[in-house]
Amino acid sequence: MSKSLNVTVDSTCISSGYCRRTAPEVFTEGPNRTSVVTGNPVTDSEEVRDAMEGCPVEAISAVDAETGEQVFP
Ligand code: SF4
Repeated sequence: MSKSLNVTVDSTCISSGYCRRTAPEVFTEGPNRTSVVTGNPVTDSEEVRDAMEGCPVEAISAVDAETGEQVFP
């Protein structure tokens, strides 16, 4: 079974749009044009991992929603 994650985008986001294109169900554009998470917890998936790994400024992090253990980075 896939993990549930609590995903966070921090203030270093430069609004490249990569995460929104890669995992559009999880990331959307927030009020100040940076990305925000549509709603936690998020189901772990290849798309979410790809979005986190591909962020050019490493603004995205995730913890296991149940244990709080750091999952990414
Ligand atoms: S990939 Fe990173 S820099 Fe680009 S919009 Fe998402 S959080 Fe922001």
